[in-house]
Amino acid sequence: MDVNLISHPLVQHKLTMMRRKETSTGEFRQLVREVALLLGYEVTRDLAMTTASITTPMEAMQAPIIKGKKLVLASILRAGEGLLAGMLDLLPSARVCHIGLYRNHETLEAVEYYFKAPEDLSERSVIVVDPMLATGNSATTAINQLKRYGAKNIRFVCILAVEAGIKMLQKSHPDVEIFTASIDRELNQSGYILPGLGDAGDRMFGTK
Ligand code: URA
Repeated sequence: MDVNLISHPLVQHKLTMMRRKETSTGEFRQLVREVALLLGYEVTRDLAMTTASITTPMEAMQAPIIKGKKLVLASILRAGEGLLAGMLDLLPSARVCHIGLYRNHETLEAVEYYFKAPEDLSERSVIVVDPMLATGNSATTAINQLKRYGAKNIRFVCILAVEAGIKMLQKSHPDVEIFTASIDRELNQSGYILPGLGDAGDRMFGTK
């Protein structure tokens, strides 16, 4: 499955502001929220539609509405929370799944500590949000778990990705379409993206 690279000028401009090390925690958080809204617009572009009978102040009509059950936004804790906030601005009725993963800093593997999702995952489209697709371990582990709970239609949205992470995710979950604002150069020894934007969680929550 192809990677959707979102090259919209607003996304690219905001991403540059996010990358700058001088950008404050508050500005960074706001930018993540704004970029999430724009990425959310792209990832929902081809949602299935149907029509509903409505009445305007003038007359009755058949009007387009989104078909099926409300979407699920699956946030990989903790950095996913920033993207989740922006996506919920756009999709206020979406259901939310939280997946708690931490990174073992020696093996770079993702370790799960929390999972809570709506029960009917198999009947809903799921959009997984995590700002950084680095090694691909977190995304793969999160999607393994979503599929175990029945999810079938899954998309993955991040802000930055690298080739290694994309390859890993495509290998483990070839059915999952990836949306990103940039494909960066490489990962360093510690699994951080270069040139990147640093630790997305720390920058968003001011923890370093
Ligand atoms: N997670 C981050 O927050 N930053 C990176 O560069 C890679 C993974």
